[in-house]
Amino acid sequence: MSECKIPYKIYLSEEEMPRVWYNVRADMRNKPAPLLHPATHQPMTAEELSAVFCEELVKQELDDTTPFFTIPTEIRDFYKMYRPSPLVRAYCLEEALGTPARIYYKFEGNNTSGSHKLNSAVAQAYYAKNQGLKGVTTETGAGQWGTALSMACSYLGLDCKVYMVKCSYEQKPFRREVMRVYGASVTPSPSESTQVGRRILAEHPGTSGSLGCAISEAVEVATSQPGYRYVLGSVLNQVLLHQSIIGLECKTALDKYGVKPDIIIGCAGGGSNLGGLISPFMGEKLRGEADYRFIAVEPASCPSFTRGRFAYDYCDTGMVCPLSKMYTLGSGFIPAPNHAGGLRYHGMSATLSQLYHDGYMEAVSVKQTEVFEAAEQFARIEGILPAPESSHAIKVAVDEALRCKETGEEKTILFGLTGTGYFDLVAYERFHDGQMTNYVPTDEDLAVGFAGLPKMD
Ligand SMILES: *Cc1c(COP(=O)(O)O)cnc(C)c1O
Repeated sequence: MSECKIPYKIYLSEEEMPRVWYNVRADMRNKPAPLLHPATHQPMTAEELSAVFCEELVKQELDDTTPFFTIPTEIRDFYKMYRPSPLVRAYCLEEALGTPARIYYKFEGNNTSGSHKLNSAVAQAYYAKNQGLKGVTTETGAGQWGTALSMACSYLGLDCKVYMVKCSYEQKPFRREVMRVYGASVTPSPSESTQVGRRILAEHPGTSGSLGCAISEAVEVATSQPGYRYVLGSVLNQVLLHQSIIGLECKTALDKYGVKPDIIIGCAGGGSNLGGLISPFMGEKLRGEADYRFIAVEPASCPSFTRGRFAYDYCDTGMVCPLSKMYTLGSGFIPAPNHAGGLRYHGMSATLSQLYHDGYMEAVSVKQTEVFEAAEQFARIEGILPAPESSHAIKVAVDEALRCKETGEEKTILFGLTGTGYFDLVAYERFHDGQMTNYVPTDEDLAVGFAGLPKMD
């Protein structure tokens, strides 16, 4: 089929929509290392994990062998409200860059929560409801996950308690209000309402909080109240599984037109959108059926892949969660407060960490002013106001397209555009006013985080 026949937006019909999620772990020879109990350092059993997470989600978390999981009809029905998400051929961007590369992006910002997080939020809320629970607790950083979960919980009639990183709670009052529109309760973290919050406040008075702190608080509340479980919006294997809907839709849409990407790019915070986007393509690579270049893009201010250690670490600051073997900056690492671009989690998905460690994936880090420059260029050319997180992927996609311009290579580039930036306008304002800086942690800064890694025997 000739190139010009490819539409600006490739959609899928209802019949073409994925009916299963794909579990990339099934095709990995080296499986991600198991979660360990924080006190005994033994692998967490399903029973232990069930005190924190919903039963069905525990099964998904621990299953390294089943390649496909049927998406329950109720979840597929919910997906129909905002999926398939558009896969866009960035003709305008290609022309503006003067590149021979073909650029595609999968846009996940087309729902009210404004990001891909809803894909897993509805799945997790569904399993909680099915188990007869009253509600769920969680943390949120910039607020996208909390918003997505609030939407899913209100749809399913579940209570939703969100611990929101304090600096975001103060800087993003509108995010907080959206969550309250959907009936969630939102508490700034660290708070006085939990033991771990009081402990962190005593040790670090005036702290602006971190995702790691908020996770500890949400877990404490979930495990101390009957009828509640904790849910997490990224990092975990189950979240990558749910997010595989992104990659599966992409692959079906591209296959329809006989398009094969050469390079697949995504931003990496905890790894869920990137993992979801690349999963079906990575599966082909792992099975030796095709080859792709995968690039994870992270902020230079929170560089887990590019400067972190591959080690067992705590997932939270309060050290109540299981240990995960991942690329990490240490659970005590708190990015500089002037870092506005999201993606501030200290660790990374265990699945992606293993794949990166085994050489199946590359990673690069970018500075925040470059990210906002790329964001603005993209907004002006393609029209969408991108989230700062998503713009990390834009930046590297543009760099790769410009490299093709130099070499004359007609590569096909696919990147994940994870969300919209309507709630990030304070960051855009700082960028416009020239107040945005590019603080990059020194090796000494990072050493502080590494010193807090658990001693394993
Ligand atoms: C949460 C979020 C991310 C980063 O999370 P991952 O788990 O790494 O995908 C990226 N973009 C947007 C818009 C987000 O909301």
